[in-house]
Amino acid sequence: MKRPLLYLLFALLTFGQLEAQQDYFFPGEQFDPAIPSPKEFLGYEIGEWHTRYDKLIAYFEKLAHSSSMAELQVIGQSHQLRPLVVLVISNSDNIQNLEKVRLNHLQLVDPQKPLPDVSRMPAIINLAYSVHGNEPSGGEAAILTAYWLLASQSEKAREIRENAIVMIDPAINPDGRDRHTNWANMHKGNPPVSDPLDREHNEIWPSGRVNHYWFDLNRDWLPLAQIELQSKIDWYHTWYPNVVGDFHEMGTNSTYFFEPTKPFGSENPVVPRKNYEEINNKFATYFAKALDEIGSLYWTKEVFDNSYPGYGSTYPDIQGGLGLVFEQASSRGHIQSSQRGDITFAFTIRNQLKTSIATMEAGVKEREYMHRYLREFFQTALTEAGKEKVKSYIFGDEFDASRNRLFLQLLLDHKIKVYENDRDQNLEGKSFKKGKSWVVPTSQPQYRMVRSMFERVTEFSDSIFYDASSWTMALAYGLPYAGQTNFSATKEIVTLENTKLHFPAPENYVAYILDWSDYFAPKFLHQIQNAGIHVEVTSLPFTSATDSGNKEFPAGSLIIPTAFQKMSSEELRKHLQQAATSSGQDVFATKTGFSLKGIDLGSNNVTAVRKPKVIMLIGNGTSQYEAGEIWHLLDTKVGMPITKMDISSFNRVNLHDFNTLILPSGFYNILSGSQINHLKDWLNRGGTIISLRTAIQWLQSQEIIKEEFLSADQEQGPEFIPFASRRDFEGAQAIGGSVYLTRLDITHPLGFGYRNTELPVYRNSSIFLKPSKNKYQTPVRYTADPLLGGYISKANLEKIKQSASVIVSQVGQGRVIHFIDNPNFRGTWFGTNKLFLNALFFADKM
Ligand SMILES: [Zn+2]
Repeated sequence: MKRPLLYLLFALLTFGQLEAQQDYFFPGEQFDPAIPSPKEFLGYEIGEWHTRYDKLIAYFEKLAHSSSMAELQVIGQSHQLRPLVVLVISNSDNIQNLEKVRLNHLQLVDPQKPLPDVSRMPAIINLAYSVHGNEPSGGEAAILTAYWLLASQSEKAREIRENAIVMIDPAINPDGRDRHTNWANMHKGNPPVSDPLDREHNEIWPSGRVNHYWFDLNRDWLPLAQIELQSKIDWYHTWYPNVVGDFHEMGTNSTYFFEPTKPFGSENPVVPRKNYEEINNKFATYFAKALDEIGSLYWTKEVFDNSYPGYGSTYPDIQGGLGLVFEQASSRGHIQSSQRGDITFAFTIRNQLKTSIATMEAGVKEREYMHRYLREFFQTALTEAGKEKVKSYIFGDEFDASRNRLFLQLLLDHKIKVYENDRDQNLEGKSFKKGKSWVVPTSQPQYRMVRSMFERVTEFSDSIFYDASSWTMALAYGLPYAGQTNFSATKEIVTLENTKLHFPAPENYVAYILDWSDYFAPKFLHQIQNAGIHVEVTSLPFTSATDSGNKEFPAGSLIIPTAFQKMSSEELRKHLQQAATSSGQDVFATKTGFSLKGIDLGSNNVTAVRKPKVIMLIGNGTSQYEAGEIWHLLDTKVGMPITKMDISSFNRVNLHDFNTLILPSGFYNILSGSQINHLKDWLNRGGTIISLRTAIQWLQSQEIIKEEFLSADQEQGPEFIPFASRRDFEGAQAIGGSVYLTRLDITHPLGFGYRNTELPVYRNSSIFLKPSKNKYQTPVRYTADPLLGGYISKANLEKIKQSASVIVSQVGQGRVIHFIDNPNFRGTWFGTNKLFLNALFFADKM
């Protein structure tokens, strides 16, 4: 008797809890019992634990198996091999005819096609969660949203299933999300601890916000540097959703934020005003109502930036949809005290759930309107382009096939039409060669993306930027480009074909030669150095009789003599050919060291290339983004391993095992006096420090280098500034991501491989440095009229003119190569990556 009673009691208790949860999240709602609830499947109430990604996916699989109204699609894979999925939910009829629905919807995107009957078309709604892995309420809300939409017997849920295809993307960044999930779960107390000082609420470096390579994926929708966003964008363009929800978290002491964002200041210039002024306000009424119903407070129209196309809530606005950012005050952990009392994880999840449902509701109610808007968006793209003076952009670097290809791929990924340039042309003092340059017409459905790629903006109606005020991708790729008032090309590029590479026939040569101008030349160099091949570099140009005729080789070209190698010439040839193939390089060879012009191959201006042995300091106090960008660059573009050492392990390193130390931006004050002495000693004996942005302040404070800063005197402004305006005034003094023109010394080893002395750089700091007293050691400096794109205050613009962008400080036999501007920004500054790699390979020649 006892046992059944106990069992009954247990069942009652569980039922009671389930009811409690359902009362909290879904008061009074009936659910289809054939579909397992999250509690039944996971074994805990949503909000009690952070749900591991494998369990989340398993639950979605279960939902898809339990109902004919759901289908789980795998759209890619994260770096750490977690599946990237979309759970599609609609009525059975739509799920069975998904491809038909999709093709019909895509008609809206093509203004040439007749407008389909929008009254019969379901709304396409994408709910995307947890792009920042340590903003976990989104992923949990995804679970509840999916369950509710599929299992709820309510009229509201039924109406959404009938009239929408809902695509739930539970975590754009599953690797980061699991990092945080494990962190929160492993520190969960019983009872839980709400004190913000508890370790549960304070992650270690790197945080769950970022992906495998420590990238912020909510900046990657435009650059597509990371595999997660490449998959997402491929998928995006197969659907062009009408509405995209992008669910985030913010500071614990806040409440809830939804759009509209701040008018004008934080809006993107290419997005139709209708989006901001009409549609956003229409949708906002649904969110307000949903949160009012449960008494949750919120705010709108302030602060959050919606201008940069790399945000998940802005990109859809440039694709005819409505991108919506949601920000929930974070419990960061299971419960955390705030100025309004304790915030529970469940509370944060419930708010996200309510706005998720409201998004679907609004999407369905405004369905026809949003379909018409999608068509109108691409139609007005053509009419607006028609009014433009610029009819096309031409671009291409004559000497760097790889960088051209990378940019072409980016354009194709964003569905921008691009054509081969069929004749040699000179425009704005730049030459564009047939076969090595391409043309993008402005008159095309993706006109607004074309502008995002090429247009430079320097005038703004506001001066506060959450992130960046310039994102001209053609500048980031460092490609020569120009606007034209006509468009005449005919051959469209659909896919990128493999280019034919040159490699010498097997004969007896004195040396092999490689031009360093190509983006992937460093990959070639690393691979052959790794194979034990002796490599030399020329610091002056020469012309050689090669196996492919007479060729000019600029400074920085690699020379691989066949003598002085510790391997047979066959073996040498084999290694070189392998490296050339995998890095896509043209290699030439010569039978004589006697040059036709310039220096000979045995000149004193040709010197051995030292193999870099690199260590990078990371961990608390250093910038995870900059460190990640360097790691990502070396891994994916060079194939070079790098030792990433936590700053707290510095005692254990013998620096003499390395020749290069990388210091990303950060605070290095944790290093002790004896550690700094070790560092100075190593530097004096020939070591190289490559440092980025704010790291210079520490180097200077420890007197490791002695450069001169330009004083950071502020724009004075009026005598009196109202207290309420303080943020606007102070914010206007910050430099938040803008682009400048510098002059590069291409005869300096840092400039090897560059043909053009004009180089755009990306700046997002307010450190100003005077050029070096040593006249030869400021290889990159700002021009007298440097602003290319973005916002900067007048006082800062004056200060930046002629200042240093890269400086080399000699320290004994060694040196510090300091980058004021980040050459590897977001894995997308292909134009300045080579500066960084030159510092790595050629430091001892500076
Ligand atoms: Zn976020």
